[in-house]
Amino acid sequence: MSGPPPTKKLRFDSAPEVKYNKIFINNEWCDAVSGATFPTVNPATGEKITDVAEGDKADVEKAVAAAEQAFKLGSVWRTMDASDRGRLLYKLSDLIERDREYLARLETLDNGKPYSVAYSADLDLTIKCYRYFAGWADKIHGKTIPVDGSFMTFTRHEPMGVVGQIIPWNFPLLMQAWKLGPALCAGNTIVMKPAEQTPLTALHVAALIAEAGFPPGVVNIIPGYGPTAGAAIASHPKVRKIAFTGSTEVGHLIMQAAGASNLKNVTLELGGKSPNIILEDADLDLAIETSHMALFFNQGPQVDQEQMDKIMDLIESGKKEGATLACGGERIGDKGYFVEPTVFTEVKDDMRIAQEEIFGPVMQIMKFKTVEEVIERANNTKYGLAASVFTRDLEKAMMVSQGIQAGIIWVNCYNNFSVQSPFGGFKESGSGRELGEYGLQQYSEVKAITIKLPQKNS
Ligand code: ADP
Repeated sequence: MSGPPPTKKLRFDSAPEVKYNKIFINNEWCDAVSGATFPTVNPATGEKITDVAEGDKADVEKAVAAAEQAFKLGSVWRTMDASDRGRLLYKLSDLIERDREYLARLETLDNGKPYSVAYSADLDLTIKCYRYFAGWADKIHGKTIPVDGSFMTFTRHEPMGVVGQIIPWNFPLLMQAWKLGPALCAGNTIVMKPAEQTPLTALHVAALIAEAGFPPGVVNIIPGYGPTAGAAIASHPKVRKIAFTGSTEVGHLIMQAAGASNLKNVTLELGGKSPNIILEDADLDLAIETSHMALFFNQGPQVDQEQMDKIMDLIESGKKEGATLACGGERIGDKGYFVEPTVFTEVKDDMRIAQEEIFGPVMQIMKFKTVEEVIERANNTKYGLAASVFTRDLEKAMMVSQGIQAGIIWVNCYNNFSVQSPFGGFKESGSGRELGEYGLQQYSEVKAITIKLPQKNS
């Protein structure tokens, strides 16, 4: 854990005051052009927290204009030293650390995850993410290339321009950091839409962005719904890149919108169905403990009724299709959106619970005989986000690591995230990578500049 320890016990004892619930454009707060608002709800109780300005196409237009202005040649942002961009990102990470307890409480209020997790995991990783990309700001450089003839060629890695970013509700602050960190580090300007279920922490970070001293228009945040505000960003002709994290279904729509508008560059981080493979020689205590952690990672309430209904529907399908419900399977109470941790055994490969992403605390246990067989079956979904294998046999670990079509392989661990290491999927789990140097590359254009020389260089 980085930063100071919490001054209070890691318990959520009172709801934090909500300070920001408007649209953030040009470092200022504004109402939606339409005047509309939408409610955001506390998933632990189902009660409204506050109403938030509901941005749509008209607000996206305003935000893109502000981001374009901020990106103009000669602007404060474009002429800022790269090292100073880094300093601004460091400043932002310090401000988030200053407000760490408040932000963790606000995240818990709006998203429903346990406060101890928000404080220790989400805030820790968020702060580290901004710091990591702060360090990269003045280390983004090109190459000199020995082209044929009497020329000198070198490359510059330049910012792309206005970047659209759309994020989900599962890690609101962290997904914001994964998107803003590299985009700002590389010198882009941004129009971001947080998830409609969890807009509050993104807006607090917007206030910190202004406080840190980022020039107006560099970051613009539009709370609102996907088919309106989100779709307007994805199809905007002046947005040069779209980075999206969310469902595979919406990932298809984002790519179509990019193709139908201006062929903007697309990075997608989508659904997964990540197998956790336990071989017979595994350290079983370790495997069980890690699998429990993975299951309980989602132990807070689901974010809203719709999300809870999706999970209950999949649990029902598991029962109907003949899987054995080993434990759980029910909603907890009638307040908020809590689902019991649920384990199915005797699961068959073609059942919905074996094929579809569940996104809740539901585990499916399936048996296999050989490593070859488990690799083939693990690859038999449309997804390819991550996989893990538990074994003491290095050769088997390597067979699984090479054989599984997924962007992340964990050996004797699960769900290990680190800002230095790339994250993203094969197949319909996405395209492009986030985090690390690979993630940074998604936010620059490469420009090759060739200069004629009086005579050939040696
Ligand atoms: P989830 O199932 O996790 O809610 P979604 O893909 O529906 O995943 O949502 C992720 C993000 O995508 C949210 O910010 C949501 O508002 C946005 N979104 C949903 N539909 C669209 C769309 N048609 N165009 C652009 N963004 C969308």
